[in-house]
Amino acid sequence: MKRREFFEKSGCAIAGIALTGVGLKADMHGTEKDRKAMVKKILMEKMGKTEAEAEAMLAEMEKKLPMVKQMCVCKTCPTYVANETAVGFCHPLIGKSKIITAEKGCNCPTCPVYKKMELKNGYYCTRKSEMEQELAKKA
Ligand code: SF4
Ligand code: SF4
Repeated sequence: MKRREFFEKSGCAIAGIALTGVGLKADMHGTEKDRKAMVKKILMEKMGKTEAEAEAMLAEMEKKLPMVKQMCVCKTCPTYVANETAVGFCHPLIGKSKIITAEKGCNCPTCPVYKKMELKNGYYCTRKSEMEQELAKKA
C-alpha cells in the first residue's frame, strides 16, 4: 500500500496536508483514550474534518493498531527497556514511551510496519509518533 493511501486509510492523513502551527502543546504521555481525543482535536481543528469524519478516521486508526502492535520489533531494539510493555510508538494512538529516555539505536527501519507504511522518521519511543514528527517539521 502506498504511503499516502495508508495515511488516508489509517486516518493519519499527513501527506499533502498543510498543518503548519498545529498545536501539540498538550502532554503526549496520556493514555490511548487521551491520545484519541488529541488526535480527534487535530483532525477537526487543524485539518478541517467534521466530527463524523474525524470519528471515522479514528476508527480506521484503531482498526490498524493491532496489526502495528503485532508487527512491531521494538522489543528487539537496544533502546527498549525491560520495564516497558508498550509497542507501536510510531502509531498516533500510542505515541512516545513514558519510560524510555535513552536512545541507543533504533530498529524501526528494519520493521515491516516501517517498510509497509513507508515511514520517514524513527526513535518513536522518545521522539513521538510519525504523525507528530511530521507535524513538527511543518510547524
Ligand atoms: S516502526 Fe518502530 S515503533 Fe513502529 S511498529 Fe515498527 S518497530 Fe514499532
Ligand atoms: S521506536 Fe525505534 S528506538 Fe524506540 S524501541 Fe522502537 S525500534 Fe527502538
